[in-house]
Amino acid sequence: MRYYKETKAKNFSQDPRVFTAVKEIVERVRAEGDAAVSDYNVKFGGQAASSFLVPQSELDRAYDETSPELRAAIERAAANIKKFAELQRDSLWPLGEVEVEEGVFLGHSVIPVDSCCCYVPGGNHPLFSTALMLVIPAKTAGVPRVCAAVPPMRGSALPHPATLAALKAAGADEVYAVGGAQAIAAFAYGTQTIAPVAMIVGPGNKYVTEAKRQVYGKVGIDFIAGPSEVLVIADENASPAVVAADILAQSEHDYDAAGILVTTSEKFARETAAEVLRQLAELDTAEIAAKSWDDNGRIIIADSLTEAAEIANMIAPEHLEINVKEPFALMGSLRNYGSLFIGEGSAEVFGDYVAGTNHTLPTMGAARYTGGLSVMNFLKVCTFQHITPQGAAKLAPAAETMATAEGLTAHAKAAAARMS
Ligand code: NAD
Repeated sequence: MRYYKETKAKNFSQDPRVFTAVKEIVERVRAEGDAAVSDYNVKFGGQAASSFLVPQSELDRAYDETSPELRAAIERAAANIKKFAELQRDSLWPLGEVEVEEGVFLGHSVIPVDSCCCYVPGGNHPLFSTALMLVIPAKTAGVPRVCAAVPPMRGSALPHPATLAALKAAGADEVYAVGGAQAIAAFAYGTQTIAPVAMIVGPGNKYVTEAKRQVYGKVGIDFIAGPSEVLVIADENASPAVVAADILAQSEHDYDAAGILVTTSEKFARETAAEVLRQLAELDTAEIAAKSWDDNGRIIIADSLTEAAEIANMIAPEHLEINVKEPFALMGSLRNYGSLFIGEGSAEVFGDYVAGTNHTLPTMGAARYTGGLSVMNFLKVCTFQHITPQGAAKLAPAAETMATAEGLTAHAKAAAARMS
């Protein structure tokens, strides 16, 4: 393999400035609560408000004032996301009592978490699609208290109306106009007006992502879902215009977003690089897209599709598109990705919005150990056991022997107490 276009390769997770800035925000919110949240909201562009909780009347108004065309698109996306979430939920069965040896019955229950905060990003763009992607799986899982945190718009105390409309369509129980690391800290530790939750999910910029990392343990999180990435594996049969469009669709997210092409054809690499520059000239988000392409965009030439698949497995991208003549033949070699888009028709943008799979996906290599967000993230698989007196008497000698060998005398006695 060799690089046709190298990246300036930065890795913000190791950026000590982000770590320190976030640590200060988390500690201040923990110590001061609402006052600190309000200060940071204002510092990052919002307006001071008497309450962070967005009244239901604002959600209703935003929904009613959304254009019929956008409302229909939101409802269509919501229906697909819900349908898929229900199917995934129903594929995870509770396990009733199973007798593994005489008198020893085991099983598991599937229980939703008590509460969650869905972080809906809103710094650069109102990512209202994320509201659907987070809240609908949480509601489908049966979480009793589903909150949403969204940054207020610049110069306003409220989030963008399209995000409020989507949150209404998704059925969020409580919506708060708080963003950034301060929102994550508020929902982890609680403030005077925000009750803490059991779990925080959702994507965000490097500050939000770092904050989730820092509060993990106090609350559960889904995973590291930071600045967006796409990796496209393409051969000479693909269209440079289509691949360039998909790379730019990622690059426009923010300066830290990354578009990567892995191809077996140098000619294709050259044509796609030229096409990216041509399309950039026509893009009204070119300022961000050009910088992220320049800083983080990569084109890698692989010797074979097998090598291309191994490169993808090593990078473990958030989105992985396979745009080659026989995409299904390659599928079996791919192991590490947040979500897979098979063939030219399966544009990532459909997954972003309306197909029904989730667009909240692991970034920065987290796809090595997790898939994307789904209804499953909100469900706990909790085991239980019922051991009859006869079963206990039979298990006790083995348990007592093991406990004694570990030097845990009280354990041994607890087992022995069941022997007769
Ligand atoms: P955001 O809501 O994540 O962040 C905005 C907030 O960041 C601001 O309100 C502010 O509180 C905070 N902030 C900004 N500058 C700061 C600074 N210097 N110090 C401390 N805090 C600061 O919105 P965004 O910035 O538009 O980012 C959205 C991100 O979400 C993008 O990076 C996008 O790629 C990513 N995303 C990822 C996925 C995924 O599944 N991985 C999906 C959708 C979006």
